Amino acid sequence: MTKRVALIYDVVIVGAGPAGLCAALYAGRGLLKAVTIERGAPGGELLNTDLIEDYIGFESVKGWELAQKMTEHAKQFGAEIVTDMVERIHRDADGWFDVETARGDSYRSQAVILTAGGTPVKLGIPGEKEYAGKGVSYCAVCDGAFFRGERLAVVGGGDAAVEEADYLTRYASKVHLVHRRDEFRASQLLQERAFSNPKIEVIRNTVVPEIVGNDTGVTHAVLEDNSTGMRSNLDVGGVFIFAGFKPNTQLVDGHVDHDAGGYLITDNRMMTSMAGLFAAGDVRSQVTRQITTAVGDATTAAIAVEKFLKGLREGDGKAKK
Ligand SMILES: Cc1cc2nc3c(=O)[nH]c(=O)nc-3n(C[C@H](O)[C@H](O)[C@H](O)COP(=O)(O)OP(=O)(O)OC[C@H]3O[C@@H](n4cnc5c(N)ncnc54)[C@H](O)[C@@H]3O)c2cc1C
Repeated sequence: MTKRVALIYDVVIVGAGPAGLCAALYAGRGLLKAVTIERGAPGGELLNTDLIEDYIGFESVKGWELAQKMTEHAKQFGAEIVTDMVERIHRDADGWFDVETARGDSYRSQAVILTAGGTPVKLGIPGEKEYAGKGVSYCAVCDGAFFRGERLAVVGGGDAAVEEADYLTRYASKVHLVHRRDEFRASQLLQERAFSNPKIEVIRNTVVPEIVGNDTGVTHAVLEDNSTGMRSNLDVGGVFIFAGFKPNTQLVDGHVDHDAGGYLITDNRMMTSMAGLFAAGDVRSQVTRQITTAVGDATTAAIAVEKFLKGLREGDGKAKK
């Protein structure tokens, strides 16, 4: 595909979830010439979330509504949001970034804020998509409180599954931790804590081939014993799936320091090991992934970009890595 003329900006923001929209707002307030490139509708994971009850200042808000409010707010400060898919982020030898999109456009800037989030790994079983947000969840902190007094199934065997099963017992009457293997991958400490919790029942060597429900949400998970193939129904009001989370970091051309899970490591300015490449929100290596942490990261990143660019213009070598 022939490249169009390069479009020059101070900063290119990749993704318009909470982090990208917040970065766009602060970039606008900082009078930076910024563009935010989003492959779908602005809002990111907010658009896959029914109710949000833990975003400070909003006691209860629909995901789509918060997405709309964030988008309008960012636009009030001049956010330019382009609908396109970023395919590659490349840093040239002269320090300028080339952000290439599916439509064949090339956005050039000396700073990029990557806020492309990530994707929970799906099981791909019947009922999973149909009941997403209606009993099927990938986030215990986000959705646990909606299941007070209910029985839940947690699927997975790694740290996230075991830790979140333990977390969910503060709301649920019982948590059935279903793992396809005998051995858990989770750390010994997490296993000991969770397995000694009287509200947790561990079900080993068992898979969940289907999630079933009705108009009100999930009613049960189908269990299949790996050795006998026998199926049974587990009555639960919700199924929490922790099969992994893939951060969208593959867009960056070249090595950027990351943790074992592939999340980008940043300094306290949110700058990655690649000078001028900042990361905020769910793509970043950190303890938790929430809307509040995404917008907090983005605030820091956008303000740090302003200082970084000022440093470059004034020839302050310290601004570079
Ligand atoms: C089901 C669910 C419920 C949740 N509930 C809550 C909750 O109640 N409270 C809470 O605090 N947190 C909740 N979370 C977590 C919260 O949604 C995330 O932490 C937050 O959305 C992260 O924001 P982000 O901007 O970093 O990433 P995202 O929201 O993932 O946004 C990333 C954006 O980047 C775009 N993008 C990705 N790749 C490209 C590309 N190549 N080109 C262009 N655009 C791209 C995506 O389309 C997306 O819009 C929930 C998450 C899920 C999955």
